[in-house]
Amino acid sequence: MKNIFHFVDGKEFKGESKRLADVFNPATGEVQAKVNLASKSDVDAAIKVASQAFTEWADTPPITRARILFKFKELIEKNSDELTKLIVAEHGKVYDDAKGSLTRGLEVVEFACGIPHLLKGEFTENVGRGVDSWSMRQPLGVCAGITPFNFPAMVPMWMFPVAIACGNTFILKPSEKDPSCSMMLGDLLKQAGLPDGVFNVVNGDKESVDALLEHKDVAAVSFVGSTGIAKYIYENAAKFEKRVQALGGAKNHCVVMPDSDLDQAVNGLMGAAYGSAGERCMAQSVAVAVGNVGDELVKRLSQKVEALKVGPGMDKTSEMGPLVTKEHLEKVRGYVDLGVEEGAKLVVDGRNLKLQGYENGFYIGGCLFDHVTDKMRIYKEEIFGPVLSVVRVKDFNSAVDLINNHEYGNGTSIFTRDGDSARTFTNKIKVGMVGVNIPIPVPMAFHSFGGWKRSLFGDQHMHGPEGVRFYTKLKTITSRWPSGIKDNPEFTMPTMK
Ligand code: NAD
Repeated sequence: MKNIFHFVDGKEFKGESKRLADVFNPATGEVQAKVNLASKSDVDAAIKVASQAFTEWADTPPITRARILFKFKELIEKNSDELTKLIVAEHGKVYDDAKGSLTRGLEVVEFACGIPHLLKGEFTENVGRGVDSWSMRQPLGVCAGITPFNFPAMVPMWMFPVAIACGNTFILKPSEKDPSCSMMLGDLLKQAGLPDGVFNVVNGDKESVDALLEHKDVAAVSFVGSTGIAKYIYENAAKFEKRVQALGGAKNHCVVMPDSDLDQAVNGLMGAAYGSAGERCMAQSVAVAVGNVGDELVKRLSQKVEALKVGPGMDKTSEMGPLVTKEHLEKVRGYVDLGVEEGAKLVVDGRNLKLQGYENGFYIGGCLFDHVTDKMRIYKEEIFGPVLSVVRVKDFNSAVDLINNHEYGNGTSIFTRDGDSARTFTNKIKVGMVGVNIPIPVPMAFHSFGGWKRSLFGDQHMHGPEGVRFYTKLKTITSRWPSGIKDNPEFTMPTMK
């Protein structure tokens, strides 16, 4: 049985903890590895290493840091098949989808390669006579990233390429459900020439997260995961005086207007609701059918959901893989049972799917509910599985109100041919990432990623310009040279003359 430990100071670190967790192969249901869960003292050891590496790394010119990231980019490309297979093996999603998610992470590395330009400050000559002023951004110190199971490569790569490009050192605490990808990324960074101690991985659970939150030498915490834990991270990081960005859960709505290209909307919804078995924070889990479009939308969707090809992620013909664990499968099944009890119409029922040869895998077929209302728990709560709810509303304004009243505000889309509706939607909607005829509006790496309301606690979104701001502190300098100006003591507030 493979044992997964930690990556600290450029090498495997076994630590003192003897606690272990199972890492499953979701396609077969088998335990394929054991991951070590770090103790507080293991985490403290990693923080010490990262703190010691900081001074030298922060002094390293940005262009040198960028060149290392450029080599890292090449190594990811070279090893993309192996990284993708690790994602499939531990997460379960289908190969092409896993590869796509790796590419979205790689794009952040490409963005971070431009760090010399991104760190340029501002300069004003002569803010006063003979006085110049400029601002610059400096790294924070040791930064920590705590990440979810659903994107084992991409979400860590939203964080650490930007953090280390800015001159910070980094400790990643990936999900204990699929830790191998992070370990391999650590190895590739070392091969790329990153000095030891700049990037570290500690595997673990609440104990290691709390150790990161409480340690005085951790300057900032980036978190992505469920809303309950995001709030906990936000509150506790602030309590221990750290900078924090904590991205939480979601319930994304896709509005289908009567004038939309319905084929485009249905295809968009299929990929966005059932891709990655719905285990995406940008999954569209609610279709809002406006006016009279509901019957035709449900008819077309149901045919496609029935025909979904579910199978192991390495089978090239699979469109949707298994869920991540048995526990999660039971949670999703439980929500489908609940929807039936709550009175929604279960148009397609995927609960009883069994795959020959994979009877112990964590599979569920696509599920489709119609006539879901905003009072139902299946509407209010995040299911994080392949379950799409159709809510019918009478008009555009009701669709906007529905979305704005939801506690989450991660992503949303509208399918329409009408420019007025599209513009009003993008203007009025209280959601962080909005698509117009785009089902999954995930911003590119040079923009920033983040939701509103209870989908993000903190001020800065991830990667892009907001990522650079999050991982740096602003310093502003005002200076003058003693070229013959004689100063008398000034006891009034200094003003420039
Ligand atoms: P999770 O909240 O269970 O776990 C996330 C991380 O927190 C993991 O590293 C885990 O080990 C740690 N953790 C879990 N319980 C903890 C506790 N009690 N105390 C401290 N740390 C704890 O999330 P998950 O199930 O791995 O991921 C799915 C969730 O992530 C969904 O809610 C999804 O919407 C969300 N997500 C959000 C985004 C976004 O950008 N907003 C992106 C991806 C995933």
